[in-house]
This record gives sequence, structure tokens and C-alpha cells, in this order.
Amino acid sequence: MFTLINNVIRNFLHRPATRRYPFEKREPFAGARGHLVIDPATCVYCGICATKCPANALAVSRDPKSWTLDPYKCILCGYCIESCPKKCLSMNPHHREP
Ligand code: SF4
Ligand code: SF4
Repeated sequence: MFTLINNVIRNFLHRPATRRYPFEKREPFAGARGHLVIDPATCVYCGICATKCPANALAVSRDPKSWTLDPYKCILCGYCIESCPKKCLSMNPHHREP
């Protein structure tokens, strides 16, 4: 009981331990990878990124032109970014908006 009262008093006197997300968003840590994004205007749909992906998370088609990522398979290794000849892939360190 004494511990409970102690905790209640301490919580009244200190700032909350949590943020008011989504109103207050934390800046990503240095080196955070976030999620993969593509610049579709630069992509030539060559499929090299899909070939290099170790998680089989990418599917690329030339005709019709499509580039799709399965975010539940992606392990954020970055091999696709390194292998893309057009440099149209990158990591966005911010959380994906729902
Ligand atoms: S490697 Fe680059 S240019 Fe080729 S399909 Fe992938 S994202 Fe597009
Ligand atoms: S970051 Fe890695 S796992 Fe994710 S799509 Fe690119 S190559 Fe595949």
C-alpha cells in the first residue's frame, strides 16, 4: 500500500513518461532505417532490386510497369538500394503513416 501511494505521488510530481502521439512525434535516432521508398519517376523497372532481395519482398514487372514491396517481408537490409542502377530507392527514417 505504501508503494502504491508512493507511486501515485511521484507520478503527480513528474512529467508523463509517454508522449502524446501522434501529436508529439519523436525524431528518429541517427542511423535508423525506417522504411523503403521509391522514386517511381526514376525507376526503369529493370527488376535488379527484386533479384537481389534476400527476403523476396519485392516484385517488379516491366509490362505493365509495376513495383511493389511487401513491408511484412522486408528486413530493411538495404541490398536493393545498393544494387539499383538508377539510385531511385532510399530509406525514410520516419514511421510509415497509416
Ligand atoms: S533496381 Fe532500381 S530501377 Fe531497377 S526496378 Fe529496382 S528500383 Fe527500379
Ligand atoms: S531492404 Fe532488403 S529486404 Fe527490404 S526490399 Fe530491399 S533488399 Fe529486400
